[in-house]
Amino acid sequence: MFIDLSNFIQNENEIYKEIENEVLDMDLNMTDTVLVSPVKYKLGISKVNKDLLADLSIEYTVEKPCDRCLKLARESVVARYQAKLVDESCKDILEDEEDLSEYEYMEKNRIEIDRLAREVVVISLPMKSLCSENCEGLCPVCGIDLNSSECDCEKTQVDPRLDVLKGLKL
Ligand SMILES: [Zn+2]
Ligand SMILES: [Zn+2]
Repeated sequence: MFIDLSNFIQNENEIYKEIENEVLDMDLNMTDTVLVSPVKYKLGISKVNKDLLADLSIEYTVEKPCDRCLKLARESVVARYQAKLVDESCKDILEDEEDLSEYEYMEKNRIEIDRLAREVVVISLPMKSLCSENCEGLCPVCGIDLNSSECDCEKTQVDPRLDVLKGLKL
């Protein structure tokens, strides 16, 4: 979906605009991470001197396997992204600037909100995933889920390279 800012840009009396909406069915195209909620966003655009500043807040819930026990774990994320909106034609001129991530491009005064929201989701995805802070994980030996069962496996971590030494008679 595109948001057309032409009227806002032309109207000199309007210095702030806010758009709240959500993106349904965003496909992250990832194997183990899926969105389980629409991506809600609030986009505020302010005119500051001659610049257009965008302030985007997004909220979503993802589901991915717990790092320890592999059970699906949900996490709600709130992320914020700010950028200066410039016309696409500025792309080449800005190429030499230091931080291009501070810029978002408009095509004929339009912002492609779905694409922008997706980018912000991807950069804000949680690195870690835990079903609970106290997750016991899986037994490294038999693979049983230690949150719900117990086993008698010897769980001292042995470096496999040390196994060789065990066989040596010193
Ligand atoms: Zn877990
Ligand atoms: Zn075990």
